[in-house]
Order: sequence, then C-alpha cells, then structure tokens
Amino acid sequence: MSAKTTFRCMRCGHEFEQDYDPRAPLVEWTCPLPECKSNSIRPLKGKKRGEGGRSPKEES
Ligand SMILES: [Zn+2]
Repeated sequence: MSAKTTFRCMRCGHEFEQDYDPRAPLVEWTCPLPECKSNSIRPLKGKKRGEGGRSPKEES
C-alpha cells in the first residue's frame, strides 16, 4: 500500500516521483541526478500550491 509522491530537490529543483510508504521508518531521499545527489529532498504536497500534482495536460 504505497502511494506515489512527488519529491523535490531543494538544491537543484529537480522533481521526481517515488513510492512513499508512510509506515516505513524515516528514509533519507537522495536527488536522482548524478551531478547533484543532494539529500535535501522534500515531499511536495500537491494541494498546498495552486497547481496540484495531477495535471497530465501540462507536461513540459
Ligand atoms: Zn538535485
């Protein structure tokens, strides 16, 4: 029972989706970009900001 959550790298701004299990112990996420690999990763809560995380129409 895991849900896809969008995470954002606070260092380079890269956003990526990853399975997130709320029951799992604290996990240290790492930026998937090999030139960054920062561990300053924050999960994005789609509802807080105006754009929500689920808009397949907008793909850049
Ligand atoms: Zn990064």
